Amino acid sequence: MGTDPVSEAQDIDYEVVIVGAGFAGLYALHEMRRLGFSAHVYEAGDGVGGTWYWNRYPGARCDVESMDYSYSFSEELQQDWTWSERYAAQPEILAYLNFVADRFDLRRDIQLETRVVAATFDDASNTWLVTTDGGESVRTRFCVMAAGCLSAARMPDFPGLSSFEGEWYRTSMWPRHPVEFRGKRVGIVGTGSSGVQAIPVVAQTADHLYVFQRTANYSVPARNRPVTAQEAVDWKLDYRDHRRLARTTPSAMLRFPNPRSATQVSPEERDAEFEARWEGGGPGFIAAFADLLDNREANELAADFVRRKISRIVEDPEVAKELMPTTHPLGTKRLCADTNYYQTYNRDNVTLVNVQKNPIVEILPKGLRTTETDYELDMIVYAIGFDAMTGALLRIDVTGAGGTKLADHWAAGARTYMGLGIAGFPNMLLVASVGSPAVLANMPTAIEQHIDWISDLLTSMRDKGRVRVEATSEAEEEWVQRVNREAAKTLYPTANSWYVGANIEGKPRVFLPFVGGFARYAKLCDNVAARDYAGFMFA
Ligand code: NAP
Repeated sequence: MGTDPVSEAQDIDYEVVIVGAGFAGLYALHEMRRLGFSAHVYEAGDGVGGTWYWNRYPGARCDVESMDYSYSFSEELQQDWTWSERYAAQPEILAYLNFVADRFDLRRDIQLETRVVAATFDDASNTWLVTTDGGESVRTRFCVMAAGCLSAARMPDFPGLSSFEGEWYRTSMWPRHPVEFRGKRVGIVGTGSSGVQAIPVVAQTADHLYVFQRTANYSVPARNRPVTAQEAVDWKLDYRDHRRLARTTPSAMLRFPNPRSATQVSPEERDAEFEARWEGGGPGFIAAFADLLDNREANELAADFVRRKISRIVEDPEVAKELMPTTHPLGTKRLCADTNYYQTYNRDNVTLVNVQKNPIVEILPKGLRTTETDYELDMIVYAIGFDAMTGALLRIDVTGAGGTKLADHWAAGARTYMGLGIAGFPNMLLVASVGSPAVLANMPTAIEQHIDWISDLLTSMRDKGRVRVEATSEAEEEWVQRVNREAAKTLYPTANSWYVGANIEGKPRVFLPFVGGFARYAKLCDNVAARDYAGFMFA
């Protein structure tokens, strides 16, 4: 890098340290290298892939269509890779990310099985000291935090957890060895996106499956199927245009919301639209009408449609009733996409247990106890989610300018400027974090947008001889207020979801993602850059 000021500090090991080698870390490394920055990636897993490395539970599959859920930065890559299914399963996505790592020769700068445990900013040199669990310390000018938003897996905290004599797993940290359900009484705790995918698969071979459901969730059929050769050819013919168009939408994928209101059409028209979306499959159901996520009455119509579906699919009316979500509006917790989820409850070997009514009290050596019954189990699968959006960063001991701890800065609720920077934490850039729309959009596209923006920022700093960038407190405060204002226009804050941190005891209730849509967000980012990074200060 010669003598440019960005790399001038004598003791810098890397200009950029990237935390995480998932979708975000891999692309960040590729970009940093392309721009001539020395970069190094730390990854806790013993392979690349991030989310798709850890979440290898049975049934794990993406709920964004595979032609969308992939990188767009290389036309050759998107032409050469062929997806086999409409919704790719975890092994295929992991294979894709490994293919990317090989194709772009990324592995030589990725240090596996190494967790970053601390990052400390030094005001005098405007650099970060990054420390790993192996005791290594390196100095870098910039930290790009690509550690994931659904990567800090929750640990079950039931009393007696370790007394269990059978096998137990978390969907979010699934082992690499084969897990056999045959001949076993299996319990699954949790009915979010992960549980809803695992339950039908485990039910196929388990001797008996007990599903411990606390909150009934809305799920729509994914309608997964193979991608035909012709479809792939057609799509690839216009891949660039597809991507361009996708970036103009709120979701960053080719999903087009019906612009009409659910309350302003006839019941027949409404049901026809819901039916078409249900049959079409996938979370595009939420786009059936424009106001499903911000009008309670409209939402209730959609919710009622799904409840009617449940009552038709599930044969036992009592079980059907238990499965019907009533406590939150549809889509305010992530809408699940399933393959035979509700049908699974018609199997003789599946029992639904309502742990809202009778909570889990403790884990026993041979099973699980609720306030009502003891269940004998050979295996327990916890599908209980993540310390979403903040957990991955807060598990690192981050100390910013003047010795401020990130944990303190975020004590009353996580806050960022544009989801990209944090006041008091110079030269730390975030990917798909708090205040970003990424978790409500097509993640790979959101990641590419964030990293392209960060790349432009670092390049401009190099060009201008700047060595320190930091979000101002005012800009951060304004963004926090904007994130809240946007959320308040919707039904999202009414649910006890991970979007507000409600799934983690003691976590401050703050609305975490930006719900204003990907396209609007990307435009705002462009405006910030065009105004010489307004809201950031430099040295
Ligand atoms: P989640 O949505 O947070 O669901 C966790 C489940 O565990 C909920 O049903 C929760 O019940 C239950 N639970 C937690 N603690 C419990 C307790 N003490 N007792 C009983 N039940 C308990 O987690 P997730 O399913 O892993 O999904 C997280 C996110 O990852 C999703 O929202 C999605 O964004 C992403 N994801 C995507 C896909 C996909 O693309 N298809 C697949 C998996 C995950 P309550 O609702 O009552 O808290």
